[in-house]
Amino acid sequence: MPNVQRVTEKVFQSPSKYIQGPAAIKNAAKYLAPLGKAPLLIADTIVYEIAGKSLTAALEQGGFKVTRGVFGGEASNQEIQRLSVIGQSSGVDFVIALGGGKTSDTAKATADQLKLEVAVLPTTASTDAPCSALSVLYHPNGEFAQYSFFMKNPSIVLVDTSVIVRAPPRFLASGIGDALATNVEARAVRNSLNFGKGLPTEVSAAIGQKCEEILFKYGRQAVEANKAQAITPAFEAVVEANTLLSGLGFESGGLAAAHAIYDAFTAIDDHNLHQFMHGEKVAFGTICQLILDGASTAELERYMELMRSVGLPITLAQLGIPNVTDEQLRSVARLACAPEETIWNLDRVLSDDIVFNAIKGADAAGRDYESKVAGR
Ligand SMILES: [Zn+2]
Repeated sequence: MPNVQRVTEKVFQSPSKYIQGPAAIKNAAKYLAPLGKAPLLIADTIVYEIAGKSLTAALEQGGFKVTRGVFGGEASNQEIQRLSVIGQSSGVDFVIALGGGKTSDTAKATADQLKLEVAVLPTTASTDAPCSALSVLYHPNGEFAQYSFFMKNPSIVLVDTSVIVRAPPRFLASGIGDALATNVEARAVRNSLNFGKGLPTEVSAAIGQKCEEILFKYGRQAVEANKAQAITPAFEAVVEANTLLSGLGFESGGLAAAHAIYDAFTAIDDHNLHQFMHGEKVAFGTICQLILDGASTAELERYMELMRSVGLPITLAQLGIPNVTDEQLRSVARLACAPEETIWNLDRVLSDDIVFNAIKGADAAGRDYESKVAGR
């Protein structure tokens, strides 16, 4: 957010502990013991079958009493209220999120409501949601509603890479799309307040850079390993970049245009567009921001090459909206420039019209790159 109050403190915040490895769920009792003995386990029915049963077994063996809260699918206020009631009536003493970004966002908000600590166990490396002290909430129809902020980050983030590797590779690629925005956004907002309402520290800038370095070095290799369900050093590194580095990097570094434009795209009422994942839409938002930043063609193409190599969309047609009208894009630009949006962290002249032109320019650059690659 723009630093109108002239805050001079730097702030960095993070989970207390991050654990990642191929046997993390099997060893979960050891890591979660400091949080309590009676968790509310929030997971949807599919994830419960894939990983929830083995987690429950591991915890029960460790003497935990697990209460199940079935996640309905949308990170909405209604869902948070419903799960809070279950938690309250069962007398749980901490909350576990097991699943994707929307599950962790819902569980973080539920734990905040119950004034309990939360452990986040992501089953995909598809978003930067697990580590942060905020949730992105949606209306029950999937349209972006608001950011919700909490007093504390999750106490523990535990990532079992033997579970992550069984998720479709598209999830890892989407996480790469989300993580690729981290450095592009953070480096553009060094003088604005981050999500901790302080200035970014040196380490948050370094985290954004490291995150990007890993993605360029290993992104494609990791997605290919994921296709073969192979847990390799490249795969582990990209899971860490998508989950830990991207999470710390965006929260303590700051967001800018890429995520604001993403938020705005969620409001287009188009079934095809809604099929795309958070990081896939963020990837296109990143191209828009690079255009706004006046990136050189060589720099733009460096990002687009990586995005393309892992199957991320770089044009509006690839985002499922080949016939989107200028009128619709103007309303996206208008929403991206809403007063509370992260786009205002950029310290430069901005308007709906400038953002509309950046979106058009991003699509043109993406199409040009596609035809260049096709002509090779
Ligand atoms: Zn994101």
